[in-house]
Amino acid sequence: MSEAIEVPVITVSVIGAAGRMGSTVCRTLEAAPDTRLVGRYDVGDDLGDLGGADVVVEFSVPGSAAANVAHCIDRGRHVVVGTTGWTQDALTAVSSQLADKPGVGVLIAPNFAIGAILMMSFAQQAARFYESVEIVELHHPDKVDAPSGTAARTASLIARARRDAGLGDVPDATSSDPGGARGARVDGIPVHALRLRGLVAHQEVLLGATGELLTIRHDSFDRVSFMPGVMAGVRQVGDHPGLTVGLENYLGLA
Ligand code: NAD
Repeated sequence: MSEAIEVPVITVSVIGAAGRMGSTVCRTLEAAPDTRLVGRYDVGDDLGDLGGADVVVEFSVPGSAAANVAHCIDRGRHVVVGTTGWTQDALTAVSSQLADKPGVGVLIAPNFAIGAILMMSFAQQAARFYESVEIVELHHPDKVDAPSGTAARTASLIARARRDAGLGDVPDATSSDPGGARGARVDGIPVHALRLRGLVAHQEVLLGATGELLTIRHDSFDRVSFMPGVMAGVRQVGDHPGLTVGLENYLGLA
């Protein structure tokens, strides 16, 4: 008689559980054989001991995520964070808090879609070969922060690759732009944010050199596109103590 193989189960709570991402994460956790959803929390709920979860997934709003993550670390929970809008100061505060909790892992990922992580990696590889580069990020109009965390991170990665290659500023003769038509600058890289009903999450990186243009584009048509990345985070965060920024660090793409 063959014996049933027992799959170790990770218990998980979700903060922001009533939201678009949080509710999709809850459904995914419930359907997976190796995870058990033990708590759903949304605005106004007492997080308490987070249902005793091994791992907490955080998809709330930029103004609340830092306090929620601090609460989780304080209770010794591993945390997988998708909420965007993190500043360098807020990341530093997470690292300092983790110094007193050596076994706890926190993953903060601006984008959990595997294709988006590949897009960032490809853009970083291509950056040193092109004089010009601009980023266009396109999202649904209910998104509260701009530019997107993915666009900001892509810009930082490209800027670092350009610096390492000794490239200077992107060429741009604009001397008058009273309405900000040339977009924002993140680490010196132009970033343009579009908000359109019907979209989910999309990004193009346009790299230009004399006589050619390389476009790297990723589209998330549905929030389920983020779930394989979230589940990889849930399964691996316990093996990565300290703060990790970017899922690429769990996928061998850093
Ligand atoms: P949403 O508005 O649909 O959901 C946010 C939820 O958080 C709501 O249910 C809200 O009531 C709840 N909330 C607000 N304050 C809270 C608090 N203090 N504690 C607990 N819950 C609270 O938003 P969404 O589309 O689900 O996106 C959530 C976040 O995830 C945003 O920052 C978004 O940019 C980000 N996001 C990240 C990824 C990624 O791959 N990393 C993908 C999509 C969205």
